[in-house]
Amino acid sequence: MVNDQKVWNTSAHHAQFGMLLARTDWDAPKHQGLSYLVLPMHQPGVLVRPLRQMNGHASFNEVFLTDARTPRDYVVGAVGEGWPAARMTLAHERRFTSMWGGPSVSGPGRAVKEAKAEAAENYAPYVWYPQRAGRADLLIERARANGLAGDPVVRQEIARVLSLQRASAWTAERARVARETGRPPGAEGSIGKLAASQLARASARAHALIARSSGMLSGEDAPLNGVVTEVLISVPAVSIAGGTDEIQHNILAENVLGLPREPGPGRNVPFRETLRNT
Ligand SMILES: Cc1cc2nc3c(=O)[nH]c(=O)nc-3n(C[C@H](O)[C@H](O)[C@H](O)COP(=O)(O)OP(=O)(O)OC[C@H]3O[C@@H](n4cnc5c(N)ncnc54)[C@H](O)[C@@H]3O)c2cc1C
Repeated sequence: MVNDQKVWNTSAHHAQFGMLLARTDWDAPKHQGLSYLVLPMHQPGVLVRPLRQMNGHASFNEVFLTDARTPRDYVVGAVGEGWPAARMTLAHERRFTSMWGGPSVSGPGRAVKEAKAEAAENYAPYVWYPQRAGRADLLIERARANGLAGDPVVRQEIARVLSLQRASAWTAERARVARETGRPPGAEGSIGKLAASQLARASARAHALIARSSGMLSGEDAPLNGVVTEVLISVPAVSIAGGTDEIQHNILAENVLGLPREPGPGRNVPFRETLRNT
């Protein structure tokens, strides 16, 4: 039976299953004694409460587990050895976060039409995801619309964003090629995630410079019916979701550059003796 609470669960409100890392051995050190479970979401022990974000959308949830159960054969890997599987899941998630683009199928056939309709329904809560990525594609058009296309500071900011975007696309391309040749997700995931976060913030800064006070308006009176405002309030999510920027820096430092591990309490002591929030 699993008991606890977890916040920020994307899509939990329409998920049939959740992936759960549960502590099953309190006498093992903190990276051991964890089990990776597939959790059936539709059961009495699982309560899903949607969260309303400041941009008006509701994509995330708070999930309460009270004596929740999972079948014995829904354990991924061995009991107590869930950490490597969890790391692999997160590496895939980072790649996904930095490559988010929504449904991308195309073609004239019925299967494609149905796949697009299904994807559109699934992605409906995430219509703001392009905005959280910073909407660099709108910068030139916005600068022109506001009569700022000749402003040297605005031009410089836009050029900076577009160069970052180009460099980040090359990293994503390297990651795609690595996947195609069968390599597991590696440093590109963390680099891509960091680049996406840097790009989104730089783009939001440029939008704010161009929109000036109109960037505080929402609804139909706002620039592009509020899309620019949505960019400004959605971008902070990128630096947190899928592992914060600071954690990506640590992963790159320790796993890629081979720098000394960050000192932390309790690496080799039983988890029940580790300092933690209670
Ligand atoms: C938009 C959004 C969507 C999300 N979707 C999901 C989801 O679908 N499923 C899910 O399970 N979770 C989801 N999350 C949760 C997300 O993964 C966590 O919020 C994130 O990993 C940070 O963990 P935390 O909130 O526990 O912060 P903490 O770990 O408490 O970190 C707090 C601050 O301390 C810094 N920090 C922590 N440890 C270190 C360290 N060792 N070195 C340096 N700095 C450190 C962090 O960078 C951060 O700034 C989502 C979050 C957001 C914002």
